[in-house]
Amino acid sequence: MDPRLTGLDLKTFLLSASDLLMPRVCICCGRQLLAGERHLCSTCLADLPLTHYENMVHNPMADKFNAAVEATGYERAAALFYYSGDYKKITQALKYNRNFGVGRFFARMLGERLAAAGFKADLVCPVPLHWARRFRRGYNQAEIIGREVARALGAGYATALLRRCRRTESQTALSAEERARNTAGAFAVRGWGVRKAGTLESILLIDDVFTTGATVAACAAALRAAYGPQVRISVATLAFAGE
Ligand SMILES: [Zn+2]
Repeated sequence: MDPRLTGLDLKTFLLSASDLLMPRVCICCGRQLLAGERHLCSTCLADLPLTHYENMVHNPMADKFNAAVEATGYERAAALFYYSGDYKKITQALKYNRNFGVGRFFARMLGERLAAAGFKADLVCPVPLHWARRFRRGYNQAEIIGREVARALGAGYATALLRRCRRTESQTALSAEERARNTAGAFAVRGWGVRKAGTLESILLIDDVFTTGATVAACAAALRAAYGPQVRISVATLAFAGE
C-alpha cells in the first residue's frame, strides 16, 4: 500500500473496498448507499417523518402517556419519528436483526434533539425485557438506545434499575385496555436500586416504539412506588406508533 496514504484516505479506501465486496444499502428503500451516506440514503433521510414532539410540551404521545400514568403534573414525552411505511424497518432492524449500528445512529439523533429541546434527567432508564426473552435475543434494544440518549443528555444511565417480573403476552393484537391489563404490575425496582428519597428528581424512560403507553406507564408506576410520587418521569422512544 502507498505509504503516503493518510489515515483518512485509508478509511475511505477501506470503506470503498468493502462497498465493492458487500454493498451497503439504505435500510428503508434498499438503494445502494453512496460514500457519505450511513444507514439511510439521502432521499429517505430527507423524508424521515420527524415528530418534532421534543419541542412541544403537549403532543399526542405526551397526552397518551399522561393519561396512562395519571401523573400529578404534566410529564414530557417525545419520539424521533412516526412509525410508518418503510421507516418501521429502522426499529425492526435493531429489534430483530441485531443491527446495533442503525440503533445507535438514530438513538444519537434522538438524544441530540432531546438535549437541544432542554430535556433533562438524573437517570436514563431503558424499559427492561423479561430475563428469558433477553437471554433468547441476547440483548435489549431499549438498552442500546438508552446508552446513547444518556450520553447526549449527560445523565446517569441505569440499565438494571427496573426488572420485568413476569412475561407479558405479545401486545401487537391487543387493544389499549388489554395492553394496560397485560402490563400492570409487570415491572419492579430492584431493592438495591432505590436511593434515599429526595435524591432522585427525574427519570427518563427509554423504549424503541411507543404505541399506547401501557408499558412505560407500568414502568412509571413501579418507579413512583419506589421513589415517591414527586419523582418526574418522562419518556422518549425512537418511534411513535399511535395515531
Ligand atoms: Zn432510501
